[in-house]
Order: sequence, then structure tokens, then C-alpha cells
Amino acid sequence: MLCEKCHRERDDDNGSYYQLCYGFTEKSARDIWWANTREITTTYKLKDREGVWICDPCVNLRYNLATIGAWLVLLPLIALVLGFVIALIRDPVSPPSSFGFWCFSCCTSGMLIIFPIWLLIWVRGSRTELGENLALSLRKKSMKRIYDFVMTASRYARLGHGL
Ligand SMILES: [Zn+2]
Repeated sequence: MLCEKCHRERDDDNGSYYQLCYGFTEKSARDIWWANTREITTTYKLKDREGVWICDPCVNLRYNLATIGAWLVLLPLIALVLGFVIALIRDPVSPPSSFGFWCFSCCTSGMLIIFPIWLLIWVRGSRTELGENLALSLRKKSMKRIYDFVMTASRYARLGHGL
């Protein structure tokens, strides 16, 4: 198979099809007399779906960049809170404000343990979505000229459309 991202010929099992949904939108207006306002609803009329074949190395590269990006945001935050906690242990703030400070530092530390775990799970879980986003970036420009909307299959499913 030919990867549409790097244009290299790869083995069939060294990549996947990533689905895009495209079609037209229909806007309908409904007057809400009691609120003196108008509600506009956008309906997505699916024309078809398209699979874009992208090789695993291309998706992995994007995935690693996302993971590194996540850690680049997290590390300064962790360092900041660690510095704060160490400073607090060395030189406890005199009462009564110390209790509030301890609560604050405990909450922040707890969040900083949960947040990276959540972020890494999210990055790992969204490998398909990373591939779909790559596919979208490849096709968006040309397809937007013809259709009202082009979006990843995951996003289309999230809008409440079963696939
Ligand atoms: Zn590729």
C-alpha cells in the first residue's frame, strides 16, 4: 500500500485505513415564540465515507510528538509544585495560614499525579484519532471545496451519529 502521508510503499499490515466523513449541512430555523428567539439547527447529511491509508510509522511519529508535547507541558508544572512543597516543608508557614497552604499543596500534588496519567491514557487511547486527524489534514483542503463538512469518523460519531 502507498502511504498518503509520506508517499512510501509499505506492507499492507504496516498501516491502516483512517475514516473521514463528508457531506452537506442543512440549516433549519425554528421560532421559539415564548423566548422571542430563533433556534438554528444544523443537520449533517452524510454523503459518504472515505478511508485514507496511512502507514504506522507516520502515525507513530505523530503519536510520539503528542506524548513528548504532553510531557513538556507537565514537567515544568511538576517541578513547580515539587519546589513549592519542598519550600513548605523546609520553612512551614506560620499558623493560621499554614493549614490552607497544606491543603492547597496536597490538592495540587494529587492533581499533578492524576493529570499526567489521564493525559497519557488519553494520548494512547486516541491513536486512531491521531491517524484520522492526519487523514483529515491531507484531505480537508480539496474536499472542503466540494462538501460543506469534512470531519474524522470519531468526531462524526461523537455528534450522535452511529456509524
Ligand atoms: Zn507514511
